[in-house]
Amino acid sequence: MAQPPPDVSEDECLPEYRHRFCPDLLRDKVAFITGGGSGIGFRIAEIFMRHGCHTVIASRSLPRVSKAARKLVAATGQRCLPLSLDVRAFPAITAAVDQALREFGKIDILVNCAAGNFLCPAGALSCNAFKTVMDIDTLGTFNVSRVLYEKFFRDHGGVIVNITATLGTRGQVLQVHAGSAKAAVDAMTRHLAVEWGPRNIRVNSLAPGPISGTEGFRRLVGSQASAGTKTLAIPLQRLGDKTEVAHGALFLASPLASYVTGAVLVVDGGAWLTFPNDLQLLADFASFSAKL
Ligand code: NAP
Repeated sequence: MAQPPPDVSEDECLPEYRHRFCPDLLRDKVAFITGGGSGIGFRIAEIFMRHGCHTVIASRSLPRVSKAARKLVAATGQRCLPLSLDVRAFPAITAAVDQALREFGKIDILVNCAAGNFLCPAGALSCNAFKTVMDIDTLGTFNVSRVLYEKFFRDHGGVIVNITATLGTRGQVLQVHAGSAKAAVDAMTRHLAVEWGPRNIRVNSLAPGPISGTEGFRRLVGSQASAGTKTLAIPLQRLGDKTEVAHGALFLASPLASYVTGAVLVVDGGAWLTFPNDLQLLADFASFSAKL
């Protein structure tokens, strides 16, 4: 079986990073990354910074993003501004973008990575639970993109990378809320690419598969034993890691992708083609009722 790549399970910077493809790839660019204080968003911030970028990392918890920013600055020597915002609150986003523009004078890249998710069968999912995920994932992505467009991208161009998922491609059990929310974001990617292309704004989605060392993976896959069995169903025979996802985001955000817009880049080892839909899991959740 193929060996899994080295990974860092908690939100720590890589102890060693060998893949500095071109240290100047994002030299003096500024990236605004929602959900940048943890998991995949944290690693995207780190990899961008290792390629010359400064970052703004924003999520609801200021202690979380502040702690993450200290680690990122120490590991990369680049600047990182931690900000508190809820992607559902338009005024908070406006204030955060204003603060970022005061600090850096520009924003070149937006990564919409903030999201919420949990397992729940559709029959037990409350309308409020469904709406909460739509509000964070779909509306949140639109809200932040819309504010960035008005405040900077409309007049200066820019790049947007939306972090989505492949859940809705084949219809994954227990995921009607997240699958629907992310499918809507992939549609939004195409709409915005078409409408904003003439303003020199590129908009793409990046859809990770099962990624080890993330909160999302821990919550969704369950036990180690079940994770091991499912891994064998992935064509590349292993889980992905956060650095591999961040490298996909680096490509989409960089001039290497200067003619790429409206695309969905799937970074999942081929998993969406073969990953089993676990109907037994559905039966296990038969008596489950959503708390939200
Ligand atoms: P994670 O560590 O839980 O990241 C989610 C981030 O979003 C957190 O930093 C959280 O910070 C922030 N957030 C949540 N609600 C927010 C809100 N209302 N406003 C602002 N920020 C908010 O999860 P992850 O597993 O790394 O996932 C990152 C992205 O990859 C997500 O878009 C997810 O859907 C996608 N993805 C992950 C996987 C996987 O295997 N992990 C697979 C496919 C897709 P606060 O709590 O401080 O707000």
